[in-house]
Amino acid sequence: MTVHFHEEDLPEGVLAPGPVAVDTETMGLHTLRDRLCVVQISDGKGDEHLVRFNPGSDYAAPNLKAVLADPSRLKLYHFARFDLAAIQHYLGVVAAPVYCTKTASRLVRTYTDRHGLKELVRELLGGDISKAQQSSDWGGPELSEAQRDYAASDVRFLHQLREELDRRLVREGRTELAQACFDFLPHRAALDLAGWPEVDIFAHV
Ligand code: MN
Repeated sequence: MTVHFHEEDLPEGVLAPGPVAVDTETMGLHTLRDRLCVVQISDGKGDEHLVRFNPGSDYAAPNLKAVLADPSRLKLYHFARFDLAAIQHYLGVVAAPVYCTKTASRLVRTYTDRHGLKELVRELLGGDISKAQQSSDWGGPELSEAQRDYAASDVRFLHQLREELDRRLVREGRTELAQACFDFLPHRAALDLAGWPEVDIFAHV
């Protein structure tokens, strides 16, 4: 298990074929205002790759974009809506097809309103991750050891979570509904970017 650190792009050929777990760290929660600082990516085999972008980056990153835009590679996220918008806005690619562990959790764990990654890892996998660095400054020239560990841990468990959530979606008969939601997520992110961030366009009023 190694955390690999890269500047401005992913090296070629570092990921095994198949689904990849993806997460982003930004300067804040407003995608248009708060720049994309780090993209984390893992093939689920035990290593995590962190790609850091400098202030003023041109976000060229051809290798990273090729993986994110690859239609044959499923991308696993926790709260895909946010990451898809950041990736769309800064890297200019739609990082689909999508699986979202938060959406899946909402569809099967109806007995709770706690759908954070830390809670999912605790309940479904019996693990523990720290969220202490969540609100730290991701824009500096150096990432601290604690920040690297945190960033890597955000993609480390998504493959395992998907397995368990898929079992529960089957059990509850909600696999198709989940897939329809996952397929809609890039469009939900596009609505966020186009000016409907907090509006439910399906609502009556
Ligand atoms: Mn994260």
